[in-house]
Amino acid sequence: MEDLNATPVAEKQPLNFLEEIIEKGLNEGTYESIQTRFPPEPNGYLHIGHAKSICLNFGLSKKYGGKTNLRFDDTNPVKEDTEYVDAIQEDIKWLGFEWASVHYASDYFDQLYDWAVALIKMGKAYVDDQTLDEIRKNRGTVTVPGTNSPWRDRSVEENLDLFARMKNGEFGDGEKVLRAKIDMAHPNMQFRDPIMYRILHAHHHRTGDKWCIYPMYDYAHGQSDSIEHITHSICTLEFDIHRPLYDWFIEQLGIWQSHQYEFARLNINYTVMSKRKLLQLVKENYVSGWDDPRMPTICGFRRRGYTAESIKNFCERIGVAKRDNIIDYSLLEFSLREHLNKVAQRRMAVLDPVKVIIDNYPEGQTEMLTAINNPENPEDGTREVPFGREIFIEREDFMENAPKKYFRMTPGQEVRLRYAYFVTAQSVEKDAEGNITCIHCTYDPATRGGDAPDGRKVKGTIHWVSAEHAIEAEVRMFDRLFAAEAPDEAPEGKTFLDNLNPNSLTVLKNCKLEPALASAEGKKNERGIWEPERFQFERLGYFCTDKDSTPEHLVFNRSCTLKDSWAKIK
Ligand code: ATP
Ligand code: MG
Repeated sequence: MEDLNATPVAEKQPLNFLEEIIEKGLNEGTYESIQTRFPPEPNGYLHIGHAKSICLNFGLSKKYGGKTNLRFDDTNPVKEDTEYVDAIQEDIKWLGFEWASVHYASDYFDQLYDWAVALIKMGKAYVDDQTLDEIRKNRGTVTVPGTNSPWRDRSVEENLDLFARMKNGEFGDGEKVLRAKIDMAHPNMQFRDPIMYRILHAHHHRTGDKWCIYPMYDYAHGQSDSIEHITHSICTLEFDIHRPLYDWFIEQLGIWQSHQYEFARLNINYTVMSKRKLLQLVKENYVSGWDDPRMPTICGFRRRGYTAESIKNFCERIGVAKRDNIIDYSLLEFSLREHLNKVAQRRMAVLDPVKVIIDNYPEGQTEMLTAINNPENPEDGTREVPFGREIFIEREDFMENAPKKYFRMTPGQEVRLRYAYFVTAQSVEKDAEGNITCIHCTYDPATRGGDAPDGRKVKGTIHWVSAEHAIEAEVRMFDRLFAAEAPDEAPEGKTFLDNLNPNSLTVLKNCKLEPALASAEGKKNERGIWEPERFQFERLGYFCTDKDSTPEHLVFNRSCTLKDSWAKIK
């Protein structure tokens, strides 16, 4: 991680391949302005991979003064829901992007139907009675040509009649499909009479029971792009083999030509990103919900304490590639730390407390010491932190028999209490099991504020909280959700679930916080979206309020550590 921290971000990034294409088109007058779209299927919450696509689509139109539509690709009624539609809009807004308009592929069902009729009339589409299994079997392979369907040469009249009856609900699911009539021996498998429509007697979250036939992705997507005059339809690499078919439908129909471009999808190690798998984690209660702070969803990152800016910086940093690669999870944390270091106020909190009594400090005395809110941002000013005779420190900041290089508290060694005094441990009290219950110290009153007038130095500074003034909180410590670098690659007989990290959540119930944190709470931001309040707990990491937190029971989440703790282990 030390190396990563030192990596300078290039001042001026060279153009990525999409920017090159766009600038060329603008210069040559191919289009006057650009129009992109972000086309999620509302069958789950957005994940960090979608964030990449959002930043790309919205980022390009922003940069070149164009527009981006939000289009719900809602052609599969069985898995879709308005809950997802709402959540997707909230996440895009939270990231800070505004769409020109919202569309639904289902708004185009009438138009798509009419175009399918037109293709039938041109002799370029037919109704097939084969089962899906037969269709799959007769498709051939990359090396073996497919076999024509026995229904391929139906007359236009018969096809029109059957397609209308499909639409009218005369047939059951799977009894018939509409296929494009292209070439069953085509070297590109996508051209072997692709299915355009299937029968699905299912309730649609927008069109209700109006339709019982639904268009397939390949038939719906390009035509939707065309209707909206999308100049750059950007999708992930696996769709490159679909591009010729995308163009084919548009050409046959003679409609406005939009173009598809492909970029490498975002993959991150220690993470799964398929919505199907994320849904399984939620449904089977491996996590507390889509917004569990361990989830790679946008709402999960938000609850974890990620800022929209840190996610956008991450997407910017990884760039736009044309070849698949895997991004290190620590780069996400690096982006978060980089931003929070600038904006998060510092506080003191003790997560695993042990009591310290300063024997020579006047009993019953409290003094207010001045602490800096954020050394990176002087405008954040200072605050007063109460100090008294009894304080809590972190259990691991004391060692009874310490090795030579231990610079924290150990009997006889002077250390600094942050913003307070130099103290020296003298003795300990223990319970029957030998656990330390209390540490006795002495302090030097001349070192108030944390410096000695005679210039003597100490090697260690530790954080603390006044015992009398401490407030209690629950702190949830998160680690990676998966222990395996490639969770999807499970050995025979195992699944990605076997790669879950059993220690991804640790709940600390007995934490002591400085009183300034009593009023910490999440708030709706200027866009009306709830955001946690974020802090750096000195020496411990970045933390934020959880949505479960109340004034009576404060709950904080650890967003990330101050340094990359995984780099050392590896
Ligand atoms: P999943 O496989 O996770 O369900 P999907 O591709 O089916 O994802 P969609 O809702 O169809 O999800 O995706 C909306 C847009 O987001 C698409 O344009 C898709 O290319 C893009 N997208 C999805 N996953 C990633 C990813 N990992 N990296 C970059 N873009 C992605
Ligand atoms: Mg999809």
